[in-house]
Amino acid sequence: MAFLEISQLQKHFGNQTAVKDFSISIEKGEFITFLGPSGCGKTTILRMLAGFESPSKGSIVFDGQDVTQLRTSQRNVGMVFQSYALFPNMTVAQNIGFGLKVAKMPQDQIDARVKEMLALIKLEKLADRYPWQMSGGQQQRVALARAIANKPKVLLLDEPLSALDAKIRISLREEIRTLQRALNITTVFVTHDQEEALSISDRIVVLNEGGVEQTGTPSEIYNFPRTRFVASFIGTLNQVNATVADVQAGTLRVGEQMLTSSHPLTGLQAGQSCMLALRPEAVSLAAPEAGKNNLQVVVDDVSFLGSIVRIRTRTGDQVVSLDVFNDPNRQLPQRGTPVNLSFAHENLLVLQ
Ligand code: ATP
Repeated sequence: MAFLEISQLQKHFGNQTAVKDFSISIEKGEFITFLGPSGCGKTTILRMLAGFESPSKGSIVFDGQDVTQLRTSQRNVGMVFQSYALFPNMTVAQNIGFGLKVAKMPQDQIDARVKEMLALIKLEKLADRYPWQMSGGQQQRVALARAIANKPKVLLLDEPLSALDAKIRISLREEIRTLQRALNITTVFVTHDQEEALSISDRIVVLNEGGVEQTGTPSEIYNFPRTRFVASFIGTLNQVNATVADVQAGTLRVGEQMLTSSHPLTGLQAGQSCMLALRPEAVSLAAPEAGKNNLQVVVDDVSFLGSIVRIRTRTGDQVVSLDVFNDPNRQLPQRGTPVNLSFAHENLLVLQ
């Protein structure tokens, strides 16, 4: 049995199903992210793990113990929310030590643990400040320290970075990951931000309308989305409408042009419409070459993104973007120029 076993979890609110039939095994020390749009059920699953919401069906097991019917206080979970939720009338040190005090830990041990936590989040100098005297990023680090102070079995993070500005968000997510690895705490993180999920997780569960669309490592989710929903939610992938030409040969028609995928066209038939998914960084501008996909397009826009230049092209009403590394010595094509896009058969994914 894995460290955290969630089996066939369901949650209904009246006649609305918030979580359909959710199962996952999470290993000790794993960092798992629930990723999905607003209303997909991710917070409801997290609240059931925390014990704030009781499941309509299914079970939750932490470290061999069935906690499904236990109250939050009996589960040994640490939680951090989007809105830091620090006690405003307590100092940083008192906030961090609060749970330890409730658990009746002797004061000298509380002081030692608080000191250790302050060192971990690098806020030793702010021990006597009140929450209103700190930035959002600092408050969230205190909330994190408070959540892990009593060494929880599972750390639950509900969009903890959403209220912070972009720069702090990135540095704090790196800090969270470093801390989580160092302490080897099994962690469940909820976000609707795909870039955040890809950068921080060991595994991602993509949720849609209360059900699981796909579970996989960041690289599996990004490189091999299995459904149209996942491909479109990840966002940066090109999505091109096509028609199946020959299932055996793996050929597909885009307008008058023919492309090939080396992935099996399982469940598809000749003449059927499908969607092609193609990563912008897998496409290059090159002369047509046998053994590769070649797509004739017209350049629509060129945007400079720093280390990368994104070139948007069109064939008919379909858009295909490609990313090339910035090179000041390279001549970029002008808008309106016809060009050939080249990409490997294995980089063309076909979704039903
Ligand atoms: P968000 O990112 O907006 O928080 P979410 O993916 O976390 O969304 P949930 O908050 O889990 O989604 O909600 C899932 C569904 O369950 C939604 O349709 C929501 O309206 C519904 N829901 C959640 N809590 C309740 C409740 N207490 N009573 C009724 N319906 C609820």
